[in-house]
Amino acid sequence: MRLIIFGPPGSGKGTYSHMISKIYGIPHISTGDILREHILKKTELGLKASVYVEKGIYVPDEIINEIINERLKQNDCNKGFVLDGYPRTIGQLNFLEKILRNSNKSLNLVINIHVSENEIIKRLSFRRVCSNCNAIYNLINKPPKIDEICDICGSKLIQRDDDKPEVIKNRLRVYMDETKPLLDHYLKQGKVVEIDGEGSIEEVFKRIKEAINKFNPT
Ligand code: AMP
Repeated sequence: MRLIIFGPPGSGKGTYSHMISKIYGIPHISTGDILREHILKKTELGLKASVYVEKGIYVPDEIINEIINERLKQNDCNKGFVLDGYPRTIGQLNFLEKILRNSNKSLNLVINIHVSENEIIKRLSFRRVCSNCNAIYNLINKPPKIDEICDICGSKLIQRDDDKPEVIKNRLRVYMDETKPLLDHYLKQGKVVEIDGEGSIEEVFKRIKEAINKFNPT
């Protein structure tokens, strides 16, 4: 099963992709996570990308497409994947379609999560991520057991530089401007399922599972 999950920053894309990955046994591929790992390890790619990521603007398509090209070649993608944060531009969409076409595959479903702007700003300013394993917390809804420490691996929690309010507004603007044409493209193909992203994680995930099972009842 090949899925894309769309939603503005803070809509829970990362959390739901992780849950989908576990339940349906397909890898969760997040270009944001891959970039952050490179930035943390100070690889050549990380050094190039950090300038963009810290400002909340898009990393150039050539860099992102190469990351996806390499990742989709790995064996665990034979069963499918859930893409989180990719594609984000028409250039990336065309590139993805070319990769799929070349391997006689196609996309099955595009999940589009809706959350209001006020709710997003509230959620992102309270978000913390583990500096080691990328686990996601929220100081209000999903706090760690010990302040500032990851429940899973015990490493320090950090606030992403791009989760600061002035950067959030920029990320939302960029998202709205650049993602709409992509959604329009998939809407025309009848592949989009709209999900109300407000409510508890369990409630929203139940809606997502219903949508996936409707498409793929096995
Ligand atoms: P995310 O974790 O998906 O919100 O991504 C964090 C940041 O990584 C974004 O604000 C961009 O700077 C960069 N990024 C992640 N995915 C992409 C992509 N598909 N295209 C361009 N930039 C990306």
